[in-house]
Amino acid sequence: MFRRAVFAIAGLLVSLSGGSVRAQTAPPLNVPPALLEDIVVGSRILAEFGVLDAFGHVSARDPNNPKHFLMSRSLAPALITADDIMEFDLDGNPIDARGRSVFLERFIHAAIYKARPDVMSVVHSHSPGVIPFSVSKTPLRAVFHNAAFLAGGAPVWDIAHEFGATDMLVRDNGIGNSLARTLGDKPVVLMRGHGDVTVGPDVKIAVFRAYYTDVDARLESQAIALGSEITYLSPEKGLKADSINLAVIDRVWNLWKQKVQANQGK
Ligand code: MN
Repeated sequence: MFRRAVFAIAGLLVSLSGGSVRAQTAPPLNVPPALLEDIVVGSRILAEFGVLDAFGHVSARDPNNPKHFLMSRSLAPALITADDIMEFDLDGNPIDARGRSVFLERFIHAAIYKARPDVMSVVHSHSPGVIPFSVSKTPLRAVFHNAAFLAGGAPVWDIAHEFGATDMLVRDNGIGNSLARTLGDKPVVLMRGHGDVTVGPDVKIAVFRAYYTDVDARLESQAIALGSEITYLSPEKGLKADSINLAVIDRVWNLWKQKVQANQGK
């Protein structure tokens, strides 16, 4: 009787440990490893540059299934690895959560992928430089060529217009859809008193835009402080300059990537 009980307990322990081993070695996501690496590197780049802190996220649409997107479990962007990346549907539901906690504001990403078939990557940040332009009547405009993508304007979305007094978070699909409507066909939308969202045809470009949106905002604030008339990039010049920036995106990306990987080794 005693021996039988010991065997039963041992069997239970084996099956429990077997279960946990199975959970840890779940099949990897069926997406190109280079895409997972871009999400990880992009997150670390933006953390390194102070665009993302403990908040914010970088995501990518699943190239094998345009109705799914990829983003990390809830974790500070500087800490994520490829193993932390999960798959979601366009309503923001995790496909295989396995007990992992997810970002509350994943609906930002879900709603934009649903509304914009051209968008393959989305970055949400609380970048400090843009906040003044989200709470004032001064529009964010392109003041230098690296931010040429802003020459067509960046709309400001105010959650209070449709949803009244909230905690400011994009915590469901209805709020996400409202944000996506304000983004329209633009590359950037500012969120009043919160941050911004940039989008792009790939992770590198969405990350580039997140960084240079912050840099441009800081430069515009400085230019306004000088107190004289400012000459901004016109939409026509912006279009030309943006296409040149996009043509050399790999040069920029490889430099940034090397920088974050060197710092990881320290
Ligand atoms: Mn946020």
